[in-house]
Amino acid sequence: MQKKETYEWGEGVYTLLSWFKKEKVKNARVLVAGAGALGNEVVKNLALFGIGHIYVVDFDRIEISNLTRSVLFREEDAYNHSYKSEIVAKRAMEINPQIKVVPIVGNLYSEVGFGLYKSVDVIIGCLDSRIARYYLNKLAMRAGKTWIDGSIENMIGVVRVFTPGVSCYECGLSREEFNNIMLRLGCADVVRMQENAGRVATTPISASIIGAMQVQEAMKIIHLSAGETEEVPFKTLQGKMLRYEGMTNSVNIYKYASWKSICPAHEEWSNIVKAESLSAEDTVDTVLKTLKSILNVNALEINMRNNKFIDKIVSDKPEKEFMVKIPESQLDDYIANNEELRKLSYKTIFHKDFIENIDETFPYKDMSLKDIGIPLFDIMQVSTEKGQYFVELTKDASVYNLA
Ligand SMILES: [Zn+2]
Repeated sequence: MQKKETYEWGEGVYTLLSWFKKEKVKNARVLVAGAGALGNEVVKNLALFGIGHIYVVDFDRIEISNLTRSVLFREEDAYNHSYKSEIVAKRAMEINPQIKVVPIVGNLYSEVGFGLYKSVDVIIGCLDSRIARYYLNKLAMRAGKTWIDGSIENMIGVVRVFTPGVSCYECGLSREEFNNIMLRLGCADVVRMQENAGRVATTPISASIIGAMQVQEAMKIIHLSAGETEEVPFKTLQGKMLRYEGMTNSVNIYKYASWKSICPAHEEWSNIVKAESLSAEDTVDTVLKTLKSILNVNALEINMRNNKFIDKIVSDKPEKEFMVKIPESQLDDYIANNEELRKLSYKTIFHKDFIENIDETFPYKDMSLKDIGIPLFDIMQVSTEKGQYFVELTKDASVYNLA
């Protein structure tokens, strides 16, 4: 048996491949959104290739029904009701102890710092709903990153690669699909308990094939990134869609490059101000004061783009106010865990009293950014008299091994 210190992952194996660049793979950072059937396959393959830094985002817990299609889950995980992302990370590091896999339990839109999206080489979408894809696309476009979408149903699977300036998920939606998403998202000021995504029948085979294709595309993107000029022997699926049909064993590739001139998703955030001293653990008061001094401005407001702070909710019948003081992303759980609110939620609708622009007038300046709904290592949009800035909470970089 070889000793621990004497081997390097992939040496003498992947190094035999003409296109494989060991350093690029070791230094690569990949964000995987979703740790279900596809996420399991994707992270397994990324780990086998030796991708150095993998971030896995999922808010869900493991259930018995997940075991049939998830190579990294075990029966005990379902009994323990463990978080999917945490188990995926743990098992992937058992497969390859030379990599770092960081689990993030939370919603990909409101609970993952945008600094993380900006710092990765490529994003892989292993999602099961259009709404989640709609949000991930916004973040990828905003970060200027390519994202690789996978979807599976029965014996069919699809891989699409979206790249800013080439193709965009939102641009490719039909009017009907778009209206459907808007309808599901509902009014901003009315509480809607999150609907569970319908369970789609899939097979472990579809998950393996599509997850494998996604990672193969990610490997190509990683080798192309960072100003690569060398000739590479492969073609990517950028601006294309691959459709696998298992019933007849057919694979087809279509052009899939929608990029409209006007689309709300096309807003790339650049010229990021790195605030080395700021963390989402700091109080609103500290952050407002520090920002004033860093940006050298008299007045400013932080515009919460992915979350809102809910001050209170008001029920219709009976008309009653409930102080909640939590981020919108936690409201469903809050209501579900509060007996009075849960009972009321069956017979009344709640209206939200929210704040999305944080300035001097914010009434709870002793609360931390995190507690009002701005995640660790986030990049905040800050409006000032001198214009708009994007400010990163750089002190939190260490949470993601990015310091
Ligand atoms: Zn678009």
